[in-house]
Amino acid sequence: MKNLASISVIRDILEKSGFKFSKSLGQNFLTDENVLTKIVSGAEIDAETNVIEIGPGFGTLTQRLCMAAKKVVCIEIDQSAIPILQDNLSDFDNLKIINADVLKTDLKKIISEEFDDGIVKIAANLPYYITTPIIMNVLESRLNVDSLTIMIQKEVADRIAAKPSTKDYGALSVAVNYYSEPQIITTVPPSSFIPQPKVSSSVIKLKLREKPPVDVADEAGYFKVVKASFGQRRKTLLNALSNSPSIPLGKEDILKVLQKCGIDEKRRGETLSLSEFADISNGIFAGR
Ligand code: SAM
Repeated sequence: MKNLASISVIRDILEKSGFKFSKSLGQNFLTDENVLTKIVSGAEIDAETNVIEIGPGFGTLTQRLCMAAKKVVCIEIDQSAIPILQDNLSDFDNLKIINADVLKTDLKKIISEEFDDGIVKIAANLPYYITTPIIMNVLESRLNVDSLTIMIQKEVADRIAAKPSTKDYGALSVAVNYYSEPQIITTVPPSSFIPQPKVSSSVIKLKLREKPPVDVADEAGYFKVVKASFGQRRKTLLNALSNSPSIPLGKEDILKVLQKCGIDEKRRGETLSLSEFADISNGIFAGR
């Protein structure tokens, strides 16, 4: 079996197939075997595990996933990669290749048809231009997914894992932490890819929570409060909330809610914990 992480093997495939890397599809293929091992072990994949891989490319990670997992379904948008992928992975009978845009793919249907509604782990070296939509789609759809173990830009991983009152903490940190527990597994330099990206990357694991870590009466209202609080980062919490058209209370009533929650109205949104956001949104939206 070919070692698909080997640069000389990749160069050989490029030469024989005429495949050209597409920058706009975020094609930076992994060439670092240690990183592949860390993704598979970080995801805790064993012979009982069902896996969905997003963006298999030439199949470098797919190969490792097929060796470790029960079944792998991979979704690749680039039609020109499909014959290469089929050829590279022809040894595996536990693999299904789907040529589609993951953002237009009904993952619930795939989980139902391919995995009999069993629990699935997602693993990927994600295309960076759609990192956040992919993550949020999976988290918000409440699919039967155990975890995502994914390579993303380091900067985005740092924002996801950030704690309150740090420069990276923002609406993305709150949203991802609401649905999952993030854990950064490793940092990966540009030299681990071909072609090399301009930025450093991280492998992050998002273990989906069975239920959110805070009690929220109105989920949509919760995220309106989060968005409004971070929308105007330099404003005080009271001003940010009262300037937002999606908060249905006037300044005085918002002040009352903040006082009732014991939250100083002069604080900035970026200092609030998930439970403080929950208290405020319950004060504003509960019973409405
Ligand atoms: N898994 C391979 C590896 O690690 O070497 C390739 C990873 S590369 C960073 C991202 C892959 O995602 C590319 O193969 C690209 O064609 C594919 N891709 C980009 N946009 C996609 C989309 N919307 N849906 C599915 N695959 C996509």
